[in-house]
Amino acid sequence: MRRFLALSLMTASLIPTGTHAQARGEEPDWAAAQEETVRHLQALIRLNTVNPPGNEIAAARYLEDVLKREGIETHLFEPAPGRGALVARLRGDGTKQPVLLMAHMDVVGVEQDKWSVDPFAAAIREDYLYGRGAIDDKGMLAANLETMLLLKRHVVDRGGTLTRDVVFVANSDEEAGGDWGMGWLIRNHPELVTAEFALNEGGRTRIVQGKPLYMAVQNTEKVSHTLEVIAHGTGGHASVPLRGNPVWRLGRALAAIGAHREPLGLNPTTREFFTQLATVWPVRIERQAMADVASRDTRRQQRGARVLAAVPVFDAVLRNGVSATIVKGGIRENVIPTEVSATLNVRTLPGASVDSVVRRLRAAVNDSLVEIRIADRGSDAPASDFGSPMFRAIADATKAVDPDMAVVPYMSTGATDSARLRQMGMLAYGILPFPMNQDDEDRMHGSDERIPLASLAFGTKVIYGAMYRVTR
Ligand SMILES: [Zn+2]
Repeated sequence: MRRFLALSLMTASLIPTGTHAQARGEEPDWAAAQEETVRHLQALIRLNTVNPPGNEIAAARYLEDVLKREGIETHLFEPAPGRGALVARLRGDGTKQPVLLMAHMDVVGVEQDKWSVDPFAAAIREDYLYGRGAIDDKGMLAANLETMLLLKRHVVDRGGTLTRDVVFVANSDEEAGGDWGMGWLIRNHPELVTAEFALNEGGRTRIVQGKPLYMAVQNTEKVSHTLEVIAHGTGGHASVPLRGNPVWRLGRALAAIGAHREPLGLNPTTREFFTQLATVWPVRIERQAMADVASRDTRRQQRGARVLAAVPVFDAVLRNGVSATIVKGGIRENVIPTEVSATLNVRTLPGASVDSVVRRLRAAVNDSLVEIRIADRGSDAPASDFGSPMFRAIADATKAVDPDMAVVPYMSTGATDSARLRQMGMLAYGILPFPMNQDDEDRMHGSDERIPLASLAFGTKVIYGAMYRVTR
């Protein structure tokens, strides 16, 4: 699989950009496309879809209007008052199974006083478009919309054929779990969203030290579980200190859990991720560590993992993660309670057993009066093959825009809607095709969220290019 990927990247960079499409007059006017994408993104940001309550129906109606005017088939739903779901379809000749092009319309809330601009004005300042949702996820929503318009104008309307349906999905409620969004669509209209491939949010395109370096395409994700740690003990009046005080016991247990490290675990995705990143990463010591960790030599792997542990996000993709998030207990300042508890959020590597994590944590705590139990068990989904035609289409489309950029499979530490699709048997890939540095990326869910205009243009080309290729 690795060799296959490397080969496809190599051949892609040998083919001059878009010659095939240009020869048939299918290459869009990208300056006009960018202007149109910016206009739609501004309109979408100006429709306030902060979830809760969401009010995505306004955005859904806007999208429906744009797509209908273009002569594209649409299906609009209102899953609950104010919520919206829009599915639009460009029909292919049926040779292949459909491909989904997904984005969510809802956004997270804002702390208005921490913004230097109005989060819903969609202001353009010095080559950036500001606004809540600019990168999560209205940027991709606008780029997906533009891709539908361009496929209609440059392929369908010119007598070209799509080998599969391209299904545009704009959904609600992603930021609050998706029950009124993708969950609702799958439960109520599975026939509209059944596909071979799905392109969703969930990846990264990273500028490191000023240079666009890599596009991480999410093909699998860690699985989230909730654990409770409950310490039992002797209660009593606080005037008489007790060694069996469960607060001390919980403190010792949490200290032991905090010091515990889950074993190193590589999977095909993370091995390929570090192998490829090692070829482009600008910092020598980390580059070496990436090559080490991706090697098959246990001692090299451990050495590499020690270096990469300094970067929390790299450490998080190398092992199961355990975070303490809530501590509860006590009723009065002068009463020793009989029970106190803490909540742990555990993220297991795909295929790893949370029961084994619990066993290791119990051993680390080593106290029969401390209970560790699973309060909420997450469900695993199979990884999507990074040798598939969809992955190759994304890689080739990216290389066509920037031949120097590495395209790597990626396991996200966070959960996305893609897991639902993978559980249904679809191959789902998460991207965020807008090259950004760490500072811009950190504004996601934060203040002064913004998208570099050049990155919006880049991302639109990549999505269109990927969809063009996968429908050949
Ligand atoms: Zn999102």
